Amino acid sequence: MPYQSVNPYSGEVVATFAEITDAELEDALSRARSAYEEWRRRSFDERAAVTRHAARILRERRDEFARLLTLEMGKRIGESVEEVLLSADIFDYYADNAENFLKPVPIDTRRGEAVVVSSPLGVLFGVQPWNFPYYQLARFAVPNVMAGNVTMVKHASGVPRSALAFEDLYREAGAPDGVYTNLFVTKEQVGKVIDDPRVMGVALTGSEQAGSVIATRAGKAVKKTTLELGGSDPLIAMPDADLGPTVHWAVWGRLHNCGQSCVATKRLLVHEQIADKFLEEFTAAMSGLVAGDPMDERTTLPPMSSQSAADKLKAQVAEAVEHGARATEVGPQVPETGAFVQPTILTDVSRDNPVYGQELFGPVAMFFSIRDEDEAISIANDTGFGLGGAVFTSDIEHGKKIAHRIESGMVFINHPTWTAPELPFGGIKQSGYGRELSWLGIHEFVNKKLINVV
Ligand code: NDP
Repeated sequence: MPYQSVNPYSGEVVATFAEITDAELEDALSRARSAYEEWRRRSFDERAAVTRHAARILRERRDEFARLLTLEMGKRIGESVEEVLLSADIFDYYADNAENFLKPVPIDTRRGEAVVVSSPLGVLFGVQPWNFPYYQLARFAVPNVMAGNVTMVKHASGVPRSALAFEDLYREAGAPDGVYTNLFVTKEQVGKVIDDPRVMGVALTGSEQAGSVIATRAGKAVKKTTLELGGSDPLIAMPDADLGPTVHWAVWGRLHNCGQSCVATKRLLVHEQIADKFLEEFTAAMSGLVAGDPMDERTTLPPMSSQSAADKLKAQVAEAVEHGARATEVGPQVPETGAFVQPTILTDVSRDNPVYGQELFGPVAMFFSIRDEDEAISIANDTGFGLGGAVFTSDIEHGKKIAHRIESGMVFINHPTWTAPELPFGGIKQSGYGRELSWLGIHEFVNKKLINVV
């Protein structure tokens, strides 16, 4: 399957890129390894200068970068601009903090003088998804490049122009050739890259299936991996939740990026005392969405990233209905051209319905009325996923207690799961392992070396 840029609003094929040959791959690996020898010796200040320059370029040309996202995967233009600026913030954050995060840590020991230093590992390989085409790359590349590693990336086949734009960004910012390399590789070549002795670690964001394939291969080659896989985040609304903001954030949590986010609010668990009113207001808000051109600022419901993604979601809803769920389609009929999906609310989802355990990547919400906190926790944790979660309540201390009971890597009180450079991002269970962003993210692919003077 070649790398192809298709506008999901019009269906137009914008560009196609050939996969690289094995000889080109070998050349790229060899250049990355040579770049590492030089890059690792640069000071933090020198690496930070390149990294800050990249942030400046993103901010100065944010509209140009943003347009590409919208044309390539259908993200609303306002959200594309937000993604460009968030990516710029990640560049600045690690330019400012990497040296401090990686400073040597002295150990209190009776066995002489001991210190743990953090050294780079070498060439790292990232396999990345299409849903946040720059942010995902920034999350992987920026901390690692600041740590002195060099990075190679296989981006999703549907976002090749964003992939090239990000590679150009590093080049323009002054990174030497080989510090960041985009690879239009085949699946078979992905295996070769993982096996290659020059490659020291692999980070994947994507589906469980892809994560399992990549981690199995890396495990065989004894290489460290981090995996950020899917999620089915619960939003628990307690009876004392402020209904207006709760509904507002539930809609935002479900619809941001047209629902195509690992940390989207996918399951609404609302206390029975407020369930009817919540559902009425949530339905009204979802009904008011305006489907249309994602380039138009007035659009609030863009197409999904591809027709195949839209078809997959519709098939999940149909299967859920076959197994007894009620699917309420809301709002005006969405356009027939473009990868649109009618906003839908699933109710009466029993625990044996296949959709109960599935990730819904798009504008389809699952709604449950819950009796009490224990039932909310039981449903929230009754999933293979463990990425994020949210609790809405006016009793913050109680909210924190509920947060401790949710089995996931992140829980937010009175807000759906979200992200910022300084907040660690990642999950447990089938949502993967390891953390990106924050001080934790930069520690994943460094050698924590003990030096002990006895
Ligand atoms: P994938 O997991 O298939 O794609 C993510 C990345 O992995 C892409 O670069 C893809 O390449 C690559 N990849 C997939 N399979 C392999 C393989 N066997 N060997 C090497 N590389 C591989 O996600 P999809 O785009 O197919 O989306 C499917 C579902 O995954 C979504 O509906 C959603 O549920 C979940 N998902 C979760 C994401 C998250 O943020 N956690 C992000 C994206 C998807 P290529 O594009 O060439 O196939």
